Amino acid sequence: MSVPKKKRTRGSKKRRASHFGLKQQKTVLCKRCKRPKLPHVVCAFCGTYKDKEITKSKLDKKEEKKLKKEQAKQAEQS
Ligand SMILES: [Zn+2]
Repeated sequence: MSVPKKKRTRGSKKRRASHFGLKQQKTVLCKRCKRPKLPHVVCAFCGTYKDKEITKSKLDKKEEKKLKKEQAKQAEQS
């Protein structure tokens, strides 16, 4: 088994550990919905990147679910 050659001082241990802390992630505001989002990433809320719609927005998904529920209710009634 390997054994450390020298004692690691408190100072050197702390100096090494000074980089262990988590840094806050940087965010930018979405141009369309003005919500904070990660830079260079599609906005999770409105699904746009550089003013282009890439994925469906959360609002659209909610509306789709509502429509499906309503259609299911109508199908049950008739
Ligand atoms: Zn957005």
